[in-house]
Amino acid sequence: MAQSSVYLKQLQLGPMENFVYVVGDPQSRKVVLIDPAWDIDAVVNLLETEELTPVATLVTHFHPDHLGGNLFGHHIAGAAELLERNLPLKVYLHKTEVSYAQRIAGLSRSDIVATEGGDILQLGSLEIRFLHTPGHTPGSQCFLVENRLISGDTLFIGSCGRVDLPGSDPAQMYDSLVNKLARLPDDTELYPGHNYASRQSSTIGQEKRTNLYLRFQRLEDFLRFMGYA
Ligand SMILES: [Zn+2]
Repeated sequence: MAQSSVYLKQLQLGPMENFVYVVGDPQSRKVVLIDPAWDIDAVVNLLETEELTPVATLVTHFHPDHLGGNLFGHHIAGAAELLERNLPLKVYLHKTEVSYAQRIAGLSRSDIVATEGGDILQLGSLEIRFLHTPGHTPGSQCFLVENRLISGDTLFIGSCGRVDLPGSDPAQMYDSLVNKLARLPDDTELYPGHNYASRQSSTIGQEKRTNLYLRFQRLEDFLRFMGYA
């Protein structure tokens, strides 16, 4: 039953092995675009061929490989380019990253909806639940759609996102991994923000068994392993 109740398409785009997701309600064909970046043509083509109606852009965090913007002098297409394509989609970003997003991706404040953990976006008969999972960045968020988790750069298959970047916080990452994501049901399907593993999706149960970063009992052990204590 749950299997057919969510439309979920995973596109691998760009040289950094990013996953872009199109997720929605198969009946109404309404979808959200999650971290649309790099190849906006590919995203728009999918919408047209599958006859999908996008209603919002959701961004897991402000890094330009997910949001679009300038990275090391190169421009990465992203949320701002969608706005130029007659797709006036509001960009849902955690409230702590709104100003970064304006600066990095050239979005105006009126393009952005500021979110916080616990928010729900209704999409036809589907609910998209926003989980605030700081650590990789202050406003990293994951999206839970029935039993599917789109995890951005918080949880990868077999690893987790970097915590050595500006704005990263390893103690917050521990809390997000162990106290939030690891407490989701074991059968929750995991869809990460990059194709860094030998497979493209996993489950929370599988990761709890095999992903070292979810297995630390104490914060201090996690910090020591990460080189911070
Ligand atoms: Zn990132």
